[in-house]
Amino acid sequence: KQAKKSGGKKGGKQRELAIAKRSEDYPQWYQDVVRFGELAEPAKVVKGCMVIKPHGYAVWEKIQRDLDGRFKDTGHRNAYFPLLVPMSFITKEAEHVEGFAPELAVVTQAGGVELEEPYAIRPTSETIIGHFFAKWIDSHRDLPLLINQWANVMRWELRTRMFLRTTEFLWQEGHTAHASHDEAEAEVLRMLNVYGDFAEQVLAMPVIRGTKTATERFAGAVDTKCIEAFMQDGKALQAGTSHDLGQNFGRAFDVKFQAESGELEYVWQTSWGVSTRLVGGVVMTHSDDEGLVLPPRVAPIHAAIIPIFRNDEQKAEVMVAAERIKAALSEIDISPPRARYRDFLEVALDDRDMRPGAKFYDWERRGVPMRIEIGPKDLEKGQVCLKMRVDTEAVSGKQFLPEAEFLASARQRLLDYQDALLALARARMAANTVTLDTWEEFEQTFAGDSSKFAWCHWDGTAETEAAIKDKTKVTIRCVPLPGYGPAPEPGVCIYSGKPSAQRVLMAKAY
Ligand code: AMP
Repeated sequence: KQAKKSGGKKGGKQRELAIAKRSEDYPQWYQDVVRFGELAEPAKVVKGCMVIKPHGYAVWEKIQRDLDGRFKDTGHRNAYFPLLVPMSFITKEAEHVEGFAPELAVVTQAGGVELEEPYAIRPTSETIIGHFFAKWIDSHRDLPLLINQWANVMRWELRTRMFLRTTEFLWQEGHTAHASHDEAEAEVLRMLNVYGDFAEQVLAMPVIRGTKTATERFAGAVDTKCIEAFMQDGKALQAGTSHDLGQNFGRAFDVKFQAESGELEYVWQTSWGVSTRLVGGVVMTHSDDEGLVLPPRVAPIHAAIIPIFRNDEQKAEVMVAAERIKAALSEIDISPPRARYRDFLEVALDDRDMRPGAKFYDWERRGVPMRIEIGPKDLEKGQVCLKMRVDTEAVSGKQFLPEAEFLASARQRLLDYQDALLALARARMAANTVTLDTWEEFEQTFAGDSSKFAWCHWDGTAETEAAIKDKTKVTIRCVPLPGYGPAPEPGVCIYSGKPSAQRVLMAKAY
């Protein structure tokens, strides 16, 4: 393990810690980036859970804030349903219970007595929401019903990893009911595109939009659409899903409406969700061997100012300039044009009694986009020293800028940095995306623990899908939507040699 401990067996605050290198131990690197970036730590005392620390929670809050606005812009309203779901609800939809039963945590006792009917801690809320939709919906005039819930859920996952897969996680779940299948399908796509646009515009995380195979579909859905993100080790992350539930839950919960024709019909439902997994996606998309990298749109702190001085006299002068720059930066508004929130720069003025080098290191590991140094020499010249967290083609290394010029350009610099991170992530994804035609190439590409994004022909059968997974751990991530993969052209399956209608995205996944 790369994390070196010095001082005290337990380490405590005195530990000197280094981040593992991506190329040497990718899983340890991820853990280190999350921990030393102050995002989260494993709860340990509760199986598979994590504690989201303030810096990590602030990232989640920024994700929530932006997504919530996008949901409202598309006509949805927030509501809240109980955490505990009667077991009889879960068992009503046959495929749903089959899919979720192994992951349920169940409450059998409360108030010191055995419960007559146990409750499941919600793994997702289709069932309990279905129950209330049945009460709320009578006629076509009640449709569409467009609800979102921000909540925690619990799935008893065996292999957990901070943010990416935890037993308890925070998420939002959209639940909608419609008068026709066409409308429900349009909703599924609309929300998939909300997720896809959000991932790219806010998280600077490029995604492939597509359709899951029947095997990978949500339990109880007739169709699942997803966004798949590229992680730096070549693996895919299912970053969000949007489900067409058909009339499955409508039937199970007797959610009927009187159609314009006067007939009673079952509603057509959708559900869609993203979770705290997105924070892990951001980490794995952008971070480097120095630690966390955050795009400005989700960075809790945009700029860290580090005063440099040798004595009290210098400190007094430098602090005046530092305070002035902090105040000016804090006025800068980087709100996206359509946002329902205002986003002003968050600036940290680091006057801790520490060596500047240690402070640089600290802010770097927390992913702060801009570091500003001001020392006596800079004061004399009326300049600041600026260093962006990640070097890009346009901007690299330290830059010395007149204070006024820096302040006037800071907003644009951050927006450019956001774009540059997306471009870097896109380039990494492109460089690690291949088109494969032979099984030999396939086995080479996915040998050992390695992975890429591979466009391959597939014969469309679950048997082939299972055989590929069994042999190589590779799964079909999705059948791409138009524009998100190679244009459909017939070919032969990479595994079976049978006819294939189009290439699908294959990769190992988190
Ligand atoms: P689902 O309801 O299964 O479609 O899940 C919705 C979204 O929640 C998925 O697309 C993932 O991004 C996320 N998710 C699922 N399981 C977990 C988990 N154990 N930990 C964190 N996020 C999860």
